[in-house]
Amino acid sequence: MVKRALLSVSDKTGIVDFARGLEKLDIQIISTGGTARILRDSGIEVMDVSDVTGFPEMMGGRVKTLHPRIHGGILSIRDDHDHMGEAQKAEVEMIDLVVVNLYPFEITVSKEGVLLDEAIENIDIGGPAMLRSAAKNYRYVSVVCDPDDYGHVLKEIRSTGVVSQKTREVLAVKAFRHTADYDATIDTYLSKELLGEEVLRLSYKDGVTLRYGENWHQAAKFYKEDGITGPSLANAKQLHGKELSYNNYIDADNALQTVKELSCSNAAVAIVKHNNPCGLATGNTLLQALGAAWDGDPISAYGSIICTNTVFSLQAAEFLNGKFVEIILAPGFEPDALEYLKNKSANLRLLELPEMNEPFEVENTYKFVIGGILEQSRNVGIYDKWDCVTETPYPEDLRAVSEFAMHACKCVKSNAVTLAFEYTDGCYMMLSMGAGQPNRVDSIRKLAATKARENLKVMYDREITDMSYEDYCNDVFAKCVMASDAFFPFDDSVVHAEENGIMYILSPGGSIRDQEVIDTANRLGVSLVFTGMRHFLH
Ligand code: 5GP
Repeated sequence: MVKRALLSVSDKTGIVDFARGLEKLDIQIISTGGTARILRDSGIEVMDVSDVTGFPEMMGGRVKTLHPRIHGGILSIRDDHDHMGEAQKAEVEMIDLVVVNLYPFEITVSKEGVLLDEAIENIDIGGPAMLRSAAKNYRYVSVVCDPDDYGHVLKEIRSTGVVSQKTREVLAVKAFRHTADYDATIDTYLSKELLGEEVLRLSYKDGVTLRYGENWHQAAKFYKEDGITGPSLANAKQLHGKELSYNNYIDADNALQTVKELSCSNAAVAIVKHNNPCGLATGNTLLQALGAAWDGDPISAYGSIICTNTVFSLQAAEFLNGKFVEIILAPGFEPDALEYLKNKSANLRLLELPEMNEPFEVENTYKFVIGGILEQSRNVGIYDKWDCVTETPYPEDLRAVSEFAMHACKCVKSNAVTLAFEYTDGCYMMLSMGAGQPNRVDSIRKLAATKARENLKVMYDREITDMSYEDYCNDVFAKCVMASDAFFPFDDSVVHAEENGIMYILSPGGSIRDQEVIDTANRLGVSLVFTGMRHFLH
């Protein structure tokens, strides 16, 4: 039976109603200064902790509940003869329910300009001690550290007179997690303040079990970063379709990062397969951008993930008629588009992310390796400089499409090259890309250039033109730019680009053979810009 409860809370949310409920069940309430005051003001009968301990609260509240009459009452093993004998001798009465939440240390230290002394005063000592005592003795004592649990606990006591064993176990683990998080926050703050050390602390909660991992025989979970705000899959609301798979998370995250990389005022669409954008375009409308992105690789777009910065329209939804897509991630969906897409397939996952166009909140990215974790700051920016290093000048009016091509390159796995052109005024599309090859020249020769011709064949066949296919290709290649995520170690990449009629190239530069590359570009009449910023993506 729950007969005595100790209530000592900093966050007084819900405490009066909870205490009133306990009082109605004839449970005696013991409480500390501020909590007692608020309960008495509401007409609830309370016994002061100081009356239990025989000591006043002292040292400005640093010592309130740290006393054997409190901790003995919480920690005694009720069916241990010796414990109960000692308790009786020392006039220790049992406490069956401990309700504590802690001084707001985290809120205090997140305030601008907080002083060390203020932070230190907000380190709760007696509170964690009580939480830990009660949690340790969960076989006999219930511990509540979250106002959200008041209702449930009260309901159980009301119906059975006790808190069930299962609930006590859940509450005990929750209390230990709470004190662990609390101490971790203190560690992070003091490490920085006193020692000048940064502590890597990743806090991930609410692991969602996924049906399987990268493959069917692998188990998997998705953990959400605690308190994450801004554009993140963790904040996306699923409006329709099957639950996300492990691979969906990876690909949708790449699609999100790719669209955000463009940060343009036009509509932008990324189409991702196997963690690489295979289609990317901007457009005056979502439909236009989607069509151009699709043209970037209509074969790979089968079973892809689409992300856009624009609310999804019915026209865009209708474009997908007869096309198989796994996920659409957008800041929102027009009601008729939503209806249309829901009818299209029961499996199609529709993810709404209203924060899509806000800046990323995260500063660092992490990668796990066996037995370790790599941390790096996010890859922000595209170039440090804009140096045309060739005799042939780089046309200024190709600057915007070149930037687009380099943004695209950042999201394609290394060795990455992208080909892009302005397909209509102010709108750009990735014509093709070469990804993930262990050498750069194959990314260009075997992938990007070959793929570009295939994509152009689809576009050519659709268009009514009296041009030959070869002229059509040459026409597009002549206005195409090629971006490379890292320097050219040899001049062969420039040679292969020129063979395909690509005359404008961006590269970070920095190879020991840069001069050789520049000489070849000069000989071929290619214009080359060095940007000074590498964009490996492994
Ligand atoms: P109240 O507002 O009731 O005066 O104080 C409630 C807060 O005091 C709670 O956050 C609780 O964790 C904390 N507390 C309870 N006992 C002690 C103690 O002995 N020392 C310290 N430093 N804090 C305590």
